[in-house]
Amino acid sequence: MSGKAAERFTAVVIGAGHAGLAASHFLSQRSIDHVVLERGEVANSWRRERWDSLRLLTPNWQSRVPGLRYEGPDPDGYMTMGEVTEFIGRFATACRAPVRRSSNGSSPAIPT
Ligand SMILES: Cc1cc2nc3c(=O)[nH]c(=O)nc-3n(C[C@H](O)[C@H](O)[C@H](O)COP(=O)(O)OP(=O)(O)OC[C@H]3O[C@@H](n4cnc5c(N)ncnc54)[C@H](O)[C@@H]3O)c2cc1C
Repeated sequence: MSGKAAERFTAVVIGAGHAGLAASHFLSQRSIDHVVLERGEVANSWRRERWDSLRLLTPNWQSRVPGLRYEGPDPDGYMTMGEVTEFIGRFATACRAPVRRSSNGSSPAIPT
């Protein structure tokens, strides 16, 4: 924090996976000021801890987050990793989650 003023928030959410983004969505709905701290990037687990050929085990029609659901042409299909990260990214944008990524992209926002 050297040289920077400390910031205060009512709530701090750790992680911009779909759980953290959903928490942000509901905090925003209630006008509760908050920040989402992310050690990597939005949907980081799906980008970094999965493999390219993986598809969701849950069908598309079951894939939904608050205010956003699969609306493509294949409700009985299974999302690819690219589609999952795009879906979660779209959710982050739609709910205007105040995500702050780690400056170096690898270290945790708070120690694990
Ligand atoms: C191989 C595999 C297949 C799966 N398939 C399915 C499926 O088909 N359908 C399904 O519903 N679920 C599936 N899951 C489960 C699903 O991945 C999890 O339930 C879901 O990702 C949990 O969401 P989350 O937001 O809690 O965690 P995550 O998606 O893991 O998000 C956590 C976020 O927090 C960040 N983070 C962690 N620690 C810190 C820290 N200290 N500081 C800052 N940021 C931090 C991470 O970088 C990450 O972005 C699967 C899981 C695996 C491993």
